[in-house]
Amino acid sequence: MKRLFTILAVAVLMGCQQSEQQAKYVFYFIGDGMGLAQVALAEAWLADSADEIGFEKLSFTDFPVMGTATTFSVNNYITCSSAAGTALATGHKTANGMLGVTTDSLDLEAITYKIKKAGYRVGVSSTVTLDHATPGAFYANAASRSDYYDIAVQLPQTGFDFFGGGGFVQPEGKNKDQVSVLSLIEEAGYQIVYGIENFDASAGAKKMILLQDKELDCMGALPYAIDRKEGDMTHASIITAAIDFLENEKGFFLMSESGRIDWACHSNDGKTSILETLDLSDAVQVALEFAQKHPEETLIVVTADHETGGLTLGREGGYSIYFDQLAEQNASKDMLLQTGDKEMTDQVAEMNNRARIGWTTSSHTGIPVPVYAMGAGSGLFSGRMDNTDIPKKICQAMGIIF
Ligand SMILES: [Zn+2]
Repeated sequence: MKRLFTILAVAVLMGCQQSEQQAKYVFYFIGDGMGLAQVALAEAWLADSADEIGFEKLSFTDFPVMGTATTFSVNNYITCSSAAGTALATGHKTANGMLGVTTDSLDLEAITYKIKKAGYRVGVSSTVTLDHATPGAFYANAASRSDYYDIAVQLPQTGFDFFGGGGFVQPEGKNKDQVSVLSLIEEAGYQIVYGIENFDASAGAKKMILLQDKELDCMGALPYAIDRKEGDMTHASIITAAIDFLENEKGFFLMSESGRIDWACHSNDGKTSILETLDLSDAVQVALEFAQKHPEETLIVVTADHETGGLTLGREGGYSIYFDQLAEQNASKDMLLQTGDKEMTDQVAEMNNRARIGWTTSSHTGIPVPVYAMGAGSGLFSGRMDNTDIPKKICQAMGIIF
């Protein structure tokens, strides 16, 4: 009797699994450098802004499924973005500094290629340059993440449908003596659109690359949220454009990186990190609104490649956080450094100190990162996992053999 009951229970469970619909529309958000502390700091900032002690939820921290992912690379507890990007894109670990290849420099295949072969439309976007480690891991293979031109020239060969974000670090190579990567992209049949105001999904382009307005230093990263001026492209606007361009009957996959949480934390700049994390929350909100229209078929996964800065709430004794100490900061530390405002740059460090925001390093740390998931197949992302498991689970949710 007991055995019959067990068999029945298993049959019901299997039935449940089979009846769960495959993910047809997949959003894979990666917050570069976004550990649990970066998320908690942004949530605490929101609560504090409403004069409360607590954690006000971001768009993705309300997701029904949560897990953690270990991030170590082949040769270190502390990963760099290229080894982590490789793990998140290909399901294989590699050594720090390497991109989309094994430690023996053999090419690894990113899930984007598997998904494209399965007939889905594919997009890759970032708030930093498209030849940077995280977006690069989703389309390129390079022995060194610093081979920016070598990475960039692989983009037009992918045949992926949509790219969006900043430009390229070395569009004409290190010595500016190579064919422009932008010409190669055009030759491969991509329409290049500069500036979100010029984006039109219905203009008939088969493949598109959406970059910042040329006037706004299109070859660099998108400005930090704290430094943003009117007309600057935002992460949320890239997601809106990507959905407009990618939506089709078969389905799509979009990887989108929020790349500057990491940069802010390398600079130990708390307020800039908070506003970047909120900016990612806004971008995920756009995906959530899409998911509400396609609730049975959409999967959203939000995670990070590693934590940056050894950030925490609290430092050097005491039991308080003083967010009001950050009130006067209205530019990123990096922007202040660029403009040569040494006095104000020092003040940002002092403000972080007085606010009791703790930092242990200007590099990355080796602690696991959070994984948030909602929608079709999201149950796969519950509990403890390794970063290499995430792309495998995404394929599983989409019914694609890894
Ligand atoms: Zn970094």
